[in-house]
Amino acid sequence: MTNLCDNISVNAQGHLCFAGQDTVLLAREYGTPLYLMDEARIRQNCRVYQTALREQFGGKAGALFASKACSFKQIYRIMEEEEMGIDVVSCGEIYTAKAAGFPMAKAFFHGNCKTDADIAYAMDAGVGYFVVDNADELQAIDREAAKRGVLQRILLRLTPGIDSHTYEAVNTGKVDSKFGAAIETGQAEELTAVALQEKNLKLCGFHCHVGSSVFAEDVFERAAVIMLTFIAEIKEKYGYLAEILNLGGGYGVRYTESDPTIDISKKIADVAAAVKAACAELKIERPFICLEPGRSIVADAGMTLYTVGSTKEIPGFKNYVAVDGGMTDNPRFALYRSRYTCFLANKASEPADFSCSVVGRCCESGDILQENVSIPRPKRGDMIAVCTTGAYNFSMSSEYNRIPRPPVVMLRKEGNRIAVRRQTFEDIAARDNSWDT
Ligand SMILES: *Cc1c(COP(=O)(O)O)cnc(C)c1O
Repeated sequence: MTNLCDNISVNAQGHLCFAGQDTVLLAREYGTPLYLMDEARIRQNCRVYQTALREQFGGKAGALFASKACSFKQIYRIMEEEEMGIDVVSCGEIYTAKAAGFPMAKAFFHGNCKTDADIAYAMDAGVGYFVVDNADELQAIDREAAKRGVLQRILLRLTPGIDSHTYEAVNTGKVDSKFGAAIETGQAEELTAVALQEKNLKLCGFHCHVGSSVFAEDVFERAAVIMLTFIAEIKEKYGYLAEILNLGGGYGVRYTESDPTIDISKKIADVAAAVKAACAELKIERPFICLEPGRSIVADAGMTLYTVGSTKEIPGFKNYVAVDGGMTDNPRFALYRSRYTCFLANKASEPADFSCSVVGRCCESGDILQENVSIPRPKRGDMIAVCTTGAYNFSMSSEYNRIPRPPVVMLRKEGNRIAVRRQTFEDIAARDNSWDT
């Protein structure tokens, strides 16, 4: 009934199934709203990257999971088992990964505003690599490393100057980005020269991240060539050859059936061809290549289930279907009008002839999950499923209106697991002082 992702199907009762399990039964067991994650799919997505990188680059490449896309302990366990590295962007993510037992030497610490306290925390947690955004931060990391008598490994984040008008991405790779040092302005070279002189830092290479939800043809190939050309120039001028080139994340996923399918293996083969050709032409040894996907590892491994509270028809205008969640568990439509595919999960084989906006329960007109949705006309108590919610949903959730965050249930053939339990009112109010006690 849908070709969105092969972990979605409909059973004989007309119930939507996810990872082979009946969503109506799952909702009954765990309540709604409910985040579901398909563990096998997460692992499969990791393996597509790892296998393709191994085939294309031998041992000299690896994938890191950009954990801001989905961060809780169980995810880090899966990443460890799949032999992935990770990206972290905050001490909270570092804490979570470490608490899950993730080997922190395989963690890369990103961010454009790491405070001294963040730097100290990350160093004490044994984070393997700092991805340095700017000169201020470089000095601060050097100072903290000096205090501890350690030689801290770093990469420098550069902006290769790839133009957002050509590439429809959530762009971070262009010259005037808030992230990184631009190659074009000479600032990347300046930062490199300083980094090479710091006594407590070991420059291991360079990083770039051109954007998110990238579908366009040759973005990564172009970024790779620009970065390798820079690496060759630095070798020429400073006698320093980068060991690592991290090309960032950003491959798009299918949120709707009209989105194209990205063949990650093929994409990696194309990037590898560009990297190999550029290294040969520039006469440099090929660095270790890292990719750091977030969305394409977890997005299609996620689904969110809701219960319908009301259906409102405003004749001549529009129809609303209100559900028991909303922007608190998925703020992405409110933030950037992200598209999603919705189903009436308990009546998935009935004709989808009711056009509506699926909205949340928050006191905010912008609390919309999706517009222009076609589903069978729902009744109170019916179930709505929103697909492809594994990335940037749980990790962006809030408790606005003091609505508890839904649990995350990890669907597994060996038996489902509650990876994150439902937030309680007590959890929400736990940090509040009451002045009378
Ligand atoms: C967000 C981010 C990623 C992951 O991007 P996706 O679009 O989720 O693949 C990778 N690297 C950096 C530096 C990022 O900020």
